[in-house]
Amino acid sequence: MNRKKFITRAALAALFAGAATPVSAAGKRRKKKQNPESRAGGPMSIATWKHGMEATAEAMRVMQEGKSALDAAEAGVRVTEADKTNTSVGLGGFPDREGIVTLDASIMEGSGRCGSVSFVQGIDHPITLARKVMEDTPHVMLTGRGAEMFAQSLGMVKHPNTLTEVSRKAWENWLKEKQYKPIINIENHDTIGLLALDQNGKLAGCCTTSGLAFKMHGRVGDSPIIGAGLFCDEEVGAATCTGLGETVLRTLASHTAVELMRHGATAQEAAEEAIHRIVKKHSNFKDFQVGILVITKTGEHGAFGLHKGFNYALHQHNSHRLIDAAYYSQAK
Ligand code: ASP
Repeated sequence: MNRKKFITRAALAALFAGAATPVSAAGKRRKKKQNPESRAGGPMSIATWKHGMEATAEAMRVMQEGKSALDAAEAGVRVTEADKTNTSVGLGGFPDREGIVTLDASIMEGSGRCGSVSFVQGIDHPITLARKVMEDTPHVMLTGRGAEMFAQSLGMVKHPNTLTEVSRKAWENWLKEKQYKPIINIENHDTIGLLALDQNGKLAGCCTTSGLAFKMHGRVGDSPIIGAGLFCDEEVGAATCTGLGETVLRTLASHTAVELMRHGATAQEAAEEAIHRIVKKHSNFKDFQVGILVITKTGEHGAFGLHKGFNYALHQHNSHRLIDAAYYSQAK
C-alpha cells in the first residue's frame, strides 16, 4: 500500500471507528472541536430560540419530578404551543397564503419509537397528537383531515380557523403584495425543537411548528419529518432543526448529524457539518436561515446556525441560559 493510500485509510478508519482524536489527511492528529458551553451530564433540556427558555424550564421541572425525557420534552413544547403570542408555533402561528393556520409536529424517543402529524388544523397541541400516533396507532405519521379525525376520536377539541389579531394583521399586510418567497429570516421563524436527556440516560425530542409564514396551502416542512426536523437514537444522541424546512428536508439534517456522531464526530462537529451540507447544496444560502441543535447520549451538545442570530436555551447542571450559537456566515 502506498503512503497516500495508507494515510487516507487511516483517516477514514479513525473517523468511522469513532476514535477520540481523528487523524487528518496529512496524518496529523487534530483536536476534536467541542462547543465551549458543552459539559456532559443529565438531566438536561435544550431548545431552539428564546421561547426555548420557558419550554426547557418546564421540561426540567418535569424531569425533576422523576418523569421521563419523553414526558419532559412533550410538556416543554406544550408551553410554547399554548402561547398565543408566539407567531410560529401552535394556533397563534402565522397562517398560510389562504389565511389558514396549519400545524406540523413530531416526537421521538432514543429507542426509535416516533410519531408525527402534519397539515393539522384547529388542534391546540399537535405534539400530544403526534405522541398519540406513536403510542396508540401502528403508524408513524398522520396528516390533515385524518390526523384531525384521530384527534377528535381522542376527545381533543377542533377549533375553527380563527386567527389571532397579530396573525390577521400580518396576513392582511402580506396580502397587499402577495409576495411569495419561501424565505426564513429572523422575523418569520421560531419553530421549537427541544431535546431532553433524563436522569436515567433516556433521550427524547420534540419539534412543533406552524411552519413557514404564508406558505402554500398544503405545504409541509421539515418539522414533522423524522430525520429532517428531529432524530433521536439512544446509541448515539439526538438532533433537531429550525429554519427553512425545504433545505433541511433536502439534506435530512437531523439524521445526518446523528449519523456523523455515530462515526466519531463530536456534537459540535456534527452540527457544523450538517449546516455545511446545506450550504453546499444551496447556492442561495445567503437568503435563508437554518439552525441545528445536537446532543450526545451523555449530554454534551453542539449548536450551529447558518447565519448570525440563532440562539438556544440550555438547562443543565443547575444553570439555565440563553446562548448565541456559532454560525457559518454573517451574510444576512
Ligand atoms: N422549519 C420550519 C418549517 O420549515 C420553520 C421554522 O423553523 O421556522 O416549517
